[in-house]
Amino acid sequence: MNSDSDTDSNFDLVVIGGGAAGFFAAITCTELSEKPRRILILEKGSDVLQKVKISGGGRCNVTHDCHDPREFAKNYPRGQKALPGPLHRWNAGDMIDWLEQRGIELKTEADGRMFPITDSSQTIIDCFLGEARMHNIEIRCRTEVSEVTHDGSRFKIALKSDVTLASKNVLIATGGVRTPSGGNFAKSFGHSVEPAAPSLFTFKIRDPRLDGLAGISVPVGVARIPDLKLENSGPILITHWGLSGPGILKLSSKVARDLQSRNYQFRVQISWTGNQSRAEISDTFSAIRDSSGRQQIQSHSQFSIPGRLWKRLCEAAQIDASTKWGNVTKSQTAALIDQLISSEFQVDGKSMNKDEFVTCGGITVKEVDFKTMQSRLQLGLYFAGEVLDIDGVTGGFNFQSAWTTGRICGESVAVKL
Ligand SMILES: Cc1cc2nc3c(=O)[nH]c(=O)nc-3n(C[C@H](O)[C@H](O)[C@H](O)COP(=O)(O)OP(=O)(O)OC[C@H]3O[C@@H](n4cnc5c(N)ncnc54)[C@H](O)[C@@H]3O)c2cc1C
Repeated sequence: MNSDSDTDSNFDLVVIGGGAAGFFAAITCTELSEKPRRILILEKGSDVLQKVKISGGGRCNVTHDCHDPREFAKNYPRGQKALPGPLHRWNAGDMIDWLEQRGIELKTEADGRMFPITDSSQTIIDCFLGEARMHNIEIRCRTEVSEVTHDGSRFKIALKSDVTLASKNVLIATGGVRTPSGGNFAKSFGHSVEPAAPSLFTFKIRDPRLDGLAGISVPVGVARIPDLKLENSGPILITHWGLSGPGILKLSSKVARDLQSRNYQFRVQISWTGNQSRAEISDTFSAIRDSSGRQQIQSHSQFSIPGRLWKRLCEAAQIDASTKWGNVTKSQTAALIDQLISSEFQVDGKSMNKDEFVTCGGITVKEVDFKTMQSRLQLGLYFAGEVLDIDGVTGGFNFQSAWTTGRICGESVAVKL
């Protein structure tokens, strides 16, 4: 292809990155433009929307059932201040309605996560591909952008294949800055980029209390990092690696940078009984001693703790299989309460890369106008999605920020064209 040929120049908008944010921006732009626009999505991978495909275990946790922008924004350890404004313009409710108007119904799980009723991310992908086709959005896969420049009148988008495209506007929607290209494009326009750090990862722990218990979870736990004076409640899952589940992932997200600077070596305390106090548990134990003194402690789990985990916690408190409620000592009881409300573990690393869901870091938010998602340093340059220094806890928040920032970008390009 020739760099100056008509086919490869004069785009109204070139979107770099065929992920959630880039797609939604492109669709929005065509949807809201008064006349047909030339919009092109460039994707370096062999297919678009690959992360949507694998998201939520293949079910795609599209968004979260919370319609108040301020409350919603609290779920972003980075981006909390920047997002309430954009969320007033495009929030979870707007996304739900948008999908519903296109025949896609979502369902809400008990913890607020929302999925397509089909339980398949392909439903979302099919919808987006259908919209892109309907609006004549051009998509080129296996097309990697290597450089973006501006010649004073238009952007020049250099591809790895040596072709150069031209466009009035460019959206950088290249995802997390662990892959540096999006950050590098931004830097070439003078933007600063917060370095990448994993967010949402599981804690690697080797401890006899957890050995062989992979798959066991408690629905309401509390994970605490005493050195950082921070805790988070939620379901906790024991894995082959150590500890995971929303209670751990959310905590990892909140302190992603602190834990990176500690090289993922820190102590974590787990309460397996939610927010129950020492006194409340002690009262429950007294009542059991009175009513069931002959019962063996190890064989009768309390507080809905799975039996095998309860047994391990009893063993850690030096309560053997023959000990009964009637003959347990005060120090054993105290040790069991310690294990229940504050089991301490030494974390020695985080999960392998493939299990890391989200990267924190990205383009510094103060250099972006969140009313338009346009760069404050270069007119016509836009950002959306995970390439920004915004990341949410688990639960559908990361996609919602991709939809919201993508929507606002698409809308502002449509309005100005
Ligand atoms: C396993 C997994 C499960 C997840 N599940 C959920 C979930 O259920 N709910 C939720 O809210 N979030 C989830 N997330 C997070 C969510 O997927 C991301 O936050 C979201 O995809 C970000 O969208 P994006 O468009 O910004 O980036 P991406 O979806 O990462 O898209 C960026 C695209 O840009 C392309 N690209 C990069 N550089 C170039 C270049 N130079 N030239 C051309 N193309 C380029 C990439 O190939 C990629 O396709 C999950 C993430 C993972 C990894």
